[in-house]
Amino acid sequence: MIFRRANEKVGDNLDELDSFHVEDGDPHLVRDEDLLLQFKCECSDENCSARISLKLSTYQKIHIDRDSFIIKPKHQVEAIEEVILTEADYSVVKKNNSTAEPGADLNVTPINNS
Ligand SMILES: [Zn+2]
Repeated sequence: MIFRRANEKVGDNLDELDSFHVEDGDPHLVRDEDLLLQFKCECSDENCSARISLKLSTYQKIHIDRDSFIIKPKHQVEAIEEVILTEADYSVVKKNNSTAEPGADLNVTPINNS
């Protein structure tokens, strides 16, 4: 009985698991690219815990450009970021200065299935 419950819980958490893959930089482990995932807001505020619902395929398309970041609308910092796209749930910003970020090598490489 306990085991069965545990398995059911795993089933419930599969979508959540996919989100973790994305956060870990392993979006290729996600089963379905049309799956709606909760992405972390990528604004300049390190403490920002906002989540953005986005299809994995949309996220990957935006991140083909490594200078582009997905944030909640109005989370941009005008001085260093330029909003290039605003949707109902999210905005896409480009960093103005081109100084390389320390973590750039850890960035996700999007899978291009097209
Ligand atoms: Zn934010």
